[in-house]
Amino acid sequence: MNPTDFPLPQRVRSVQPSPTVVFRELAQRRLDAGDTVFDLTIGEPDFDTPAHIIEAAYAALKAGFTHYVNSRGITELLAAISRKLESDNHLSYAPDREILVTLGGKQAIFAAIMATVEQGDEVLVLDPAWVSYDPMVRLAGGVPIHVPLSVQDNFRITEEQLNRHLTGQTRVLILNSPNNPTGRVATQTELEAVAAVAQKANLLVISDEIYEKLVYDDRRHVSIATLPGMRERTLVVNGFSKTYAMTGWRLGYVAGPASLIGAVLKVHQHSVTCATSFVQSAAVAALNGPQDDMERMVAEFKARRDLVVAGLNAIPGVKCPQVEGAFYAFPDVSAYGPGEEVGKVLLQEGGVALVPGSAFGASCANHLRLSFAASRETLERALEAMGRVLERMKE
Ligand code: PMP
Repeated sequence: MNPTDFPLPQRVRSVQPSPTVVFRELAQRRLDAGDTVFDLTIGEPDFDTPAHIIEAAYAALKAGFTHYVNSRGITELLAAISRKLESDNHLSYAPDREILVTLGGKQAIFAAIMATVEQGDEVLVLDPAWVSYDPMVRLAGGVPIHVPLSVQDNFRITEEQLNRHLTGQTRVLILNSPNNPTGRVATQTELEAVAAVAQKANLLVISDEIYEKLVYDDRRHVSIATLPGMRERTLVVNGFSKTYAMTGWRLGYVAGPASLIGAVLKVHQHSVTCATSFVQSAAVAALNGPQDDMERMVAEFKARRDLVVAGLNAIPGVKCPQVEGAFYAFPDVSAYGPGEEVGKVLLQEGGVALVPGSAFGASCANHLRLSFAASRETLERALEAMGRVLERMKE
C-alpha cells in the first residue's frame, strides 16, 4: 500500500494544522537568515522553574522514584492539589476519587473530552478560543460549535449568545478564564450566564483555569464550579505550566465529581498510564513550598502588561483593550488591514512575530495576538518596530 493512499479517518482529516505554525516557520526562516526576530508568538513564561522545584525532582530521581505510579497521581500530590483547590478556589474535592493528575492541562482537557463526548455530540467553544479545543472535540468524534463573542462588546459572554447556539445535541461547553487569547477574566455576571445555560440545557462545563494566577489589578479568578448547582456538572482543569513556569515538565490536573473523574481516568489509564513519577514530586514542592517566585513573576507580567497595552494604544489606529489576565494582548489592527496580512508585514519588515487572530476563531480576523512572555527590553523594541512598520503602511 502506498502510505499516501491510506484512508485517514474523517475525524483526523477534519483537523487543520494550526495557523500558528505558519507564522513560526516564517519567523524561523528569518532567524536562520541571521535577522533579528522578536518572537511574541509563544505561550509560555520566559522564567526558569524555581530552584526548589527542580531540587525536589532531582531528589526524587536520586531516590529511585523512577517507576510507574498510581494512575490517578501520587498520594502526596493529590492531597496537595485538594488543599490548593480548597484554599484558593473554595472547592472541596476528595483526593482519592475526585482528582486526576495528568500530563499538562492539555491532556486533562483532551481526556475529559474523550471521556464525555459521544460521536456527534455538540460542544460549545467560545470564540476567541485557544487553538486546541476545536481539534480536540473533532478527534473525539464530537462537533465543535463556535460561539462568536461580540468584538464590539469586548468578548462578553451573554446568555442570549449561548442560547442561540444550543441544539438538542449540545452536551458540553468549554470555558476558559482568564482567557487565551483575549486576556479577559470572566465576571460574576458572565459566569452566572454560563451557569444558567448549562443548567437549563443540562450541559457539562469543562473549565480551563490554567491562567488563574495571572490576573491583574483588582480582578479575581472565580471558578465556575463554585456557583450554585455547578460543582456536579463541571470539570475543573488546571496545571503547573503557567503558574510555576513548568511548561516542559508536562503536569496538570482535573477535578470533578467522582463518576466523571472515573470516566476520565479510564482514558488516562489506557493512553498514558500515569503522569511522570518524579515530576509529581516536583509538583508537590511547587504547591507546598514558597510561592514568592510565582508572586514575583505575576508582578513582572503586570509591568509588561502596562507597557504593552500603553505601547499598542500609542500606535495610531491600533485598539487594544485592557488585558485583565493571562499574558496576551489582543489588539484590533484592522485600520491597517486583516490581522493575517498585517502580521505578515510586521514579520517581514519589522521582525515582529505575532499570531493572527483568525487562529482563534473566524470572528477574530481583525486581531493579532501578542504574547508578553518576553523581556521588557524585547517588548519595547518590538513595539517600536511595530510603530515604525505600521506608520509606513499608512503611507
Ligand atoms: N489551556 C490554555 C488556554 C492554554 O493556553 C494552554 C497552553 N498554551 C493549555 C491549556 C495547556 O497547558 P499545559 O498543557 O502546558 O498545562
